Amino acid sequence: MSEQIESLLQKTQHTKDELIRLLSVQSAHETQLVLDKGLEVKAAHPGRKVYLRGLIELSNVCSKNCYYCGIRAVNIKVERYTLSTEEVLNAAHFSWQQGFGSLVIQTGEQKSTRFTSQISSLLQEIHKHTNNELTITLSCGEQSQETYKEWRQAGADRYLLRIETTNKELFYQIHPHDKNHDFDQRMNALADLKHAGFQVGTGVMIGLPNQTIADLADDLLFFRSLDVDMVGMGPYIEHADTPLFSSAHLLWSPSERFRMGLIMIALLRINMPWINIAASTALETLDPLGRQKGILAGANVVMPNLTPVSNRRNYQLYDNKPNLDKDASLSTKTLNEVVSSIGETICLHESGNSLHYLKRTGLF
Ligand code: SF4
Repeated sequence: MSEQIESLLQKTQHTKDELIRLLSVQSAHETQLVLDKGLEVKAAHPGRKVYLRGLIELSNVCSKNCYYCGIRAVNIKVERYTLSTEEVLNAAHFSWQQGFGSLVIQTGEQKSTRFTSQISSLLQEIHKHTNNELTITLSCGEQSQETYKEWRQAGADRYLLRIETTNKELFYQIHPHDKNHDFDQRMNALADLKHAGFQVGTGVMIGLPNQTIADLADDLLFFRSLDVDMVGMGPYIEHADTPLFSSAHLLWSPSERFRMGLIMIALLRINMPWINIAASTALETLDPLGRQKGILAGANVVMPNLTPVSNRRNYQLYDNKPNLDKDASLSTKTLNEVVSSIGETICLHESGNSLHYLKRTGLF
């Protein structure tokens, strides 16, 4: 049996049936074969390098009600906040000084001209205060094509918009079925982001209630067909104050969701060797060594949280998010130690642009 897995792992592109076979490995030995191949492909393409993105959770105000999310609009237990410009600039400055090279601004989804302008002016201010030396990723949800273009012109380089699952039926099991949570609209937004000239990222949750191995294979094929530049995906972790929590009895065990999260990273790395793949915080929630294991399966991006500690508790999309009480400098020190200890190098003062993006746009 392992010979069959080894032979499949020689291929650089897999069909759906082959992905299903690889996602179905059970034994520790076969799982390790897949993960080792992910690392081998990473080493031969982007290299054994890790790029840092300072993460700023700008605001937990959100107009949506995704069934899995702890900061959904109707959750009255959450204290809503929006960071001040000064707080954002302090975090950006810290990121710049530490040599991270890159920043991610994440918010709940808000659609208004005031919000659009707020993000545009933040982008301009950050660039001004950091000598134009930081690349910036936005993760601010579905917006109009005009808004995407405005933010691109204001200095955003990358945009992350997760599809969460590419199975439409499953999508509507984890989102309300209404015009504010429309599967096709989300797909269109991803196309709009490409047209606006962003490095485009998406992602999915792994181990959702009722999700199948075939769904995960389809997710991997979707990343390839969309020709994405970066992916942030991780195990689904339930949040007690959400509707999806009532389906917790259907879930794979946390260790199985974690194992599948690593296998997904490895298979994605094999099939899309040049993209950026994040080792998600969700991995670390399920296993204290989760980030390291994600990197060793093929991930090459880590996002230290720079949100002020006092606000982090109110930005919990899922339960038990780690590092809620660590200040940024402590997290950075820990990350440096962790990454070096597994034989990888943190690339400081580099933007860490997706090599896939540079290749598809003729810049590499
Ligand atoms: S997942 Fe994002 S869009 Fe959905 S409720 Fe949470 S913050 Fe809002």
